[in-house]
Amino acid sequence: MQCKELLTLLPAYLDGELDLMQSVEVEKHLDTCDTCLQLVENQRVLRTAMRTGALYHAPRASLERNILRTVQKSERATVAQPLFAFRRFQFAAALAALVLLAFWGGGRFRVTPSTSDTIANEALSGHLRSLMADHLTDVVSSDKHTVKPWFNSKIDYSPPVIDMAESGFPLVGGRLDYLDNHPVTALVYRRQKHVINLFLWPVPATDKAAEFETHRGYNMIHWTQSGFACWAVSDLNATELRDFARRYQEQITISNRP
Ligand SMILES: [Zn+2]
Repeated sequence: MQCKELLTLLPAYLDGELDLMQSVEVEKHLDTCDTCLQLVENQRVLRTAMRTGALYHAPRASLERNILRTVQKSERATVAQPLFAFRRFQFAAALAALVLLAFWGGGRFRVTPSTSDTIANEALSGHLRSLMADHLTDVVSSDKHTVKPWFNSKIDYSPPVIDMAESGFPLVGGRLDYLDNHPVTALVYRRQKHVINLFLWPVPATDKAAEFETHRGYNMIHWTQSGFACWAVSDLNATELRDFARRYQEQITISNRP
């Protein structure tokens, strides 16, 4: 199994939905590939955090029993005290509706298509993970002729790796990351002591001008250019991050000229 295949099977593998043969193939690959192993571990950490964090609320097991009991009691009471029972039934119905709403809300959270806000959250998580887990780069090189072929062996598209040293943003390396439900390219640049993670993935959309935003104290710029969605995340100040994005866009335009 190649890294590319593993990446397509990754969501199903993490959800425990692969058949035995596929699971064995995935695990065989993980035994020999540190990059994919790291990716799987990152995903597990992220999933655990989402399950235990404030985003997920599992109802108590007693809730269902309580609702049933309330409904049954109100049914029994209907015979003896119609008015009182009706009030209780209303209460039970309201409670049931609330529970349904809670489930619907929970489910909705998982199936809603990614908004820019979701991607911003995930891009920031990717940035922070890369700094905390000592996993900034899988390929360490300031040479785009080293970084680009490394990606070509892992993913089925060729990311635009641009050398930005002359503009004052030296390339540190790259790694595979996982964003918006698919594997993405993360290019790592530096400006003095600040790290810039530039996340890239192919999109069918037409070019979109750069938009700047701050997210939990971090600066972000995102744009779409030449078939790639690009998200730059850093604690670098806004002026310099805008400068980085502008220069990167210029370099892509230059490199695309015939
Ligand atoms: Zn691999």
